[in-house]
Amino acid sequence: MNAKNSVPVARAFDVEAVRRDFPALHQQVHGHPLVYLDNAASAHKPRAVIDTITHYYSTDYSNVHRGLHYLSERCSQAYEDARGKVASFIHAKDAREIIFVRGTTEAINLVANTYGRKHVRAGDEILISALEHHSNIVPWQMLCEQTGGVLKVVPVSDAGELDLEAFEHLLSSRTRLVAVTHVSNALGTINPLRRIIDAAHAVGARVLIDGAQAVHHMPVDVQDLDCDFYAFSGHKMYGPTGIGVLYGKAALLEAMPPWQGGGEMIREVSFERSTYADIPFKFEAGTPHIVGAIGLGAAVDYISSFDRAAVARHEHELMTYATELLGSLPGLRIVGTVANKASIVSFVLDDAHPHDVGTILDRYGIAVRAGHHCTMPLMNRLCLGGTTRASFAMYNTRSEVERLVAGVGKVMEMFRR
Ligand code: PLP
Repeated sequence: MNAKNSVPVARAFDVEAVRRDFPALHQQVHGHPLVYLDNAASAHKPRAVIDTITHYYSTDYSNVHRGLHYLSERCSQAYEDARGKVASFIHAKDAREIIFVRGTTEAINLVANTYGRKHVRAGDEILISALEHHSNIVPWQMLCEQTGGVLKVVPVSDAGELDLEAFEHLLSSRTRLVAVTHVSNALGTINPLRRIIDAAHAVGARVLIDGAQAVHHMPVDVQDLDCDFYAFSGHKMYGPTGIGVLYGKAALLEAMPPWQGGGEMIREVSFERSTYADIPFKFEAGTPHIVGAIGLGAAVDYISSFDRAAVARHEHELMTYATELLGSLPGLRIVGTVANKASIVSFVLDDAHPHDVGTILDRYGIAVRAGHHCTMPLMNRLCLGGTTRASFAMYNTRSEVERLVAGVGKVMEMFRR
């Protein structure tokens, strides 16, 4: 803390110091030092998160909210503090707007099963984009099957950019909800959220943003964006698995029916009827992932301890460097070439299948992802079976990019016709 004005002083960004915070990075894989470039799937955890989890399971652990005893009070306090940290992290107005869920997938299913079931009638429309992860497609398809709603899709260009004119054309008084990703997990495209949200609101639609690939790479301010819902996962932002967040505007959450019923989410229960707790508890039935939420709070603290602009610059430089080096290899094509991208480089080789590329890179200790990245409709649109994807985190380095490029070069040699 800065004693004068009590503003936390950001830790200077030094990638080698950051790497020392992540024990899992320092291992050999198949006889090579690990190069971990599968961060969009899940990121490694800093010591601060691991220690927090260990501490709570070792000492201050108890069930939350129900106990009168010391440990329950301490654990409940830490759980609620974590909610407050997450609220500040995305600049929510009120910690009651933060619902702890299992992850982005559960957050989106929650909205589909509550807001969606209440407001979507036969013939009403839900608008998604061609860039979406399956978790921002399938829940809406299921909702449409149940309600007679209609799913519409905003097209995407060959470069991976949303067709905003088509989007505005598709919006109408029938649109109940627009659900789009902040950053594409397959291509890295950053969507122009302000324009999308303002246009959707102009026709009276609500907007859900899938922030799974965004919230740790760039500052997110849900009030400034004015989105109605924002969903993300702890495990992609250096936090634990099995914990994530649904942000929703308080007035919307208050008016939504609960989804899952059980303990924690009720006010009173009789055999005739039950009444429900206030938000956020109305949406947190059962014992929550207590230590997961507390660990997520530690991840938020960790990310927030840095100069975030410096981290974003570093990640952007890695992406640009990888794009330049890979893009110069004959027989390799970068997929997703819009100017506004975050932390992801997807590519295909003329002569090798993405699965072969991923498998061979693994032999050199380089972890990437290969396949459709849970975006089958996008891959179909781009006429691809899949891509190889390198995704960067704050702990990756330029020399790791060079190892990736050298590894891809070896794959090319093997498959040269
Ligand atoms: N949305 C996007 C853009 C993603 O990248 C992912 C995971 O890869 C998800 C949603 C689903 O996240 P989770 O599996 O943590 O629920």
